[in-house]
Amino acid sequence: MEDIKTLIDKEIDNLKEDIIATTAQLIKIKSVEDKPQEGMPFGKGVNDALVFCEKLCQKLGFETKNFDGYALEARFGEQSEDVCVIGHLDVVPEGEGWNVPPYEGVIKDGKIYGRGAIDDKGPTVAALYGMYVVKKLAEEGKISLDRSLRFVFGTNEESGSKCLQYYFKRAEYPTVGFTPDADFPVIQGEKGFLVFELSKNIDGNFYLEGGERPNMVPDRCTFKGSFDIQRAKDIVSKKSLEGKTEIYEEDGMTVIKTKGISAHGSLPFKGENAISYMFDILQELYEKEDEFKRFIEFYNKHIGYDVFGKNLNIGFEDQKSGKLVLNAGMVRKVDDKIVLTINIRYPVDTKYEDIEREIKSVIEEYEIDYKLITDMPPLYFEKDHFLIKTLLDVYKEFTGDDSKPLVIGGGTYARWAKNVVAFGPNMPGDEEVAHQKDEYITIDRLLMCAKIYANAIYRLSKKD
Ligand SMILES: [Zn+2]
Repeated sequence: MEDIKTLIDKEIDNLKEDIIATTAQLIKIKSVEDKPQEGMPFGKGVNDALVFCEKLCQKLGFETKNFDGYALEARFGEQSEDVCVIGHLDVVPEGEGWNVPPYEGVIKDGKIYGRGAIDDKGPTVAALYGMYVVKKLAEEGKISLDRSLRFVFGTNEESGSKCLQYYFKRAEYPTVGFTPDADFPVIQGEKGFLVFELSKNIDGNFYLEGGERPNMVPDRCTFKGSFDIQRAKDIVSKKSLEGKTEIYEEDGMTVIKTKGISAHGSLPFKGENAISYMFDILQELYEKEDEFKRFIEFYNKHIGYDVFGKNLNIGFEDQKSGKLVLNAGMVRKVDDKIVLTINIRYPVDTKYEDIEREIKSVIEEYEIDYKLITDMPPLYFEKDHFLIKTLLDVYKEFTGDDSKPLVIGGGTYARWAKNVVAFGPNMPGDEEVAHQKDEYITIDRLLMCAKIYANAIYRLSKKD
């Protein structure tokens, strides 16, 4: 085994400049989702990145197949079982506040900067070159493989993974594989991901809007209605929420704005929910005994500041994956309806049906309706599963790090595939740079990932 590791190391070292340059070139393609064009379901930028990879894979000697702009597949070998790596080429918008240009592939101080550097272009390039090296060594007869190799490039991971859903309707599931799009040592489980709406018919002449996405802790909420401004201020001060609130008059109405702290929907306890602040204030401010008042009472009694679902009777928890977490992500008054959108990450041993049943039994007496938007069931592999054991071993050999496999609340491509788990590129203690300004990957990490991924691909190609 040792000599194969050395062989791989040498090959990757020889490819160092190619790996760096390819990552920088890919960052230069602004692959943010855009309006569809013919054959480009997620817009031109995303498609340019896909075509770039198609040419690269052909140059590297893989057989390629483009799935109508949704996904690109690169293959090597004839064995019926395979090892599959799945990376994504789309990126989230750059946002504001960058100190380097986000789409120029700037290389500085041992780092490659730009949107997608760590999520997920750098790791995808590292894994592709890792697979290329395994292919090359097999072609040269230096190693033998029991399984063929497959690389899948997806194009829509950041907004629903419609790419992989399309792809796996047309291609078989892999035998084993990984996606380089989360954390080391390895992700053995992903919690269930649920989005639903609670709505109630109301009347009342006011405006209410908070949050932008179900999976983000809302950092702002606005309420506009006919209320005495001084009374509003008194209530806010009684609740010690002055620092989180802005109150003023506009067009003869009183406007209240609450400010929270945004955080990822899987970590609501790291943020402060502006919608919860608003309902806390409305509990006292809104005096009319009507249907909206009932909704306010429901919110404060069954959600409020509770992010673990206890007050909704869904405080599920298990040994493998911990607690259910809940994020009240958006609220809107739409015509004569109030609509609250909630995102839940539920433990791997919990069943969706149990959550739905419990919630329905609570909302019934408030005459609130439930509407399911998305449910992605959890995934979980036992520690002694071939995939987990193998990937953990490879990571440990490279880093000496003894960390245990992780269960996360976020979702990766692993949910849409089968027999696939997330593996790297982030390591314990890393600065969180995905989706942030000044996103980067260090060149050391990029090359280490290429080596780890090449070894992992080789080991997974050996039958258990
Ligand atoms: Zn990603």
